[in-house]
Amino acid sequence: MPRVDTTIQPVFVRPPTGDPVPLVLDSPHSGDVYPGDFRAACAPELLRQAEDAWVDELWGAATGLGATMVAAGFPRAYIDPNRALEDMDPALLDEPWPGPIAPGDKSGRGVGLIWRLIKGEVPIYDRKLSVEEVRQRIDRYWQPYHVALDAAVDAAHARFGRVWHIDCHSMQATGNKRSVDGDGTPRADFVLGDRDGTTCEPEFTRFVADRVAAMGYSVKVNDPYKGVEIVRRHGRPAEGRHSLQIELNRALYMDEEAHRKIPRFDRLQADLATLTRDLVGFIGSRP
Ligand SMILES: [Zn+2]
Repeated sequence: MPRVDTTIQPVFVRPPTGDPVPLVLDSPHSGDVYPGDFRAACAPELLRQAEDAWVDELWGAATGLGATMVAAGFPRAYIDPNRALEDMDPALLDEPWPGPIAPGDKSGRGVGLIWRLIKGEVPIYDRKLSVEEVRQRIDRYWQPYHVALDAAVDAAHARFGRVWHIDCHSMQATGNKRSVDGDGTPRADFVLGDRDGTTCEPEFTRFVADRVAAMGYSVKVNDPYKGVEIVRRHGRPAEGRHSLQIELNRALYMDEEAHRKIPRFDRLQADLATLTRDLVGFIGSRP
């Protein structure tokens, strides 16, 4: 059963414990404490399948290597920090949203700012949400997450004149009915997303792709995931702000149905530590 609370810390910022480097990681979907006012109607086990479980732990070596880690405390099915505030699904609300909304492709798939569906087909709620409760989710969770991440990225940029940022996720091993890649399609071990080369220098994407491939993992770039709101907000390569989304295939480290780690977890965690160490070298080598 998931943990339930009414006073959740929305975001955890873990500062570097090693010599600081201009590298910031964020894990927006690994939160696993369920707010008491969620009032979801679907099975809790299903809800948990939306979590990018243990992703912050997988990248846990980063702070010792000089990076800053920002991680969500709340679950992404409650409100998704990797969506724009405007990506609001009006079908969820019991009255019109008072501000501007622009429901996009994600809302259309049931996974906008507030998710409507789990696994692309199971409704999360048996009720409509009030404007007030959605506003509270934004004010108490979405906003503090972005304030903390903005501050970490800006602090590194102010100190070093540039910053590399990794938006850390995990994905189901295959697509579902509403996935962009369709039902049952197997996915690569790693999927890197730079929104078709717009959110970071191409060398960053290429370095990560090459290193990961050298470790024996399969890797794809912008297929099927290109990166969404977080890399869009932070990726401004012309200003020395490089942002890359990394999706890990959950089959590499967990049993999704049973929601538990598998023995291979430790190997992936060690490989991510090696990748992070190599990235610190890469960052130091950039002109
Ligand atoms: Zn994610």
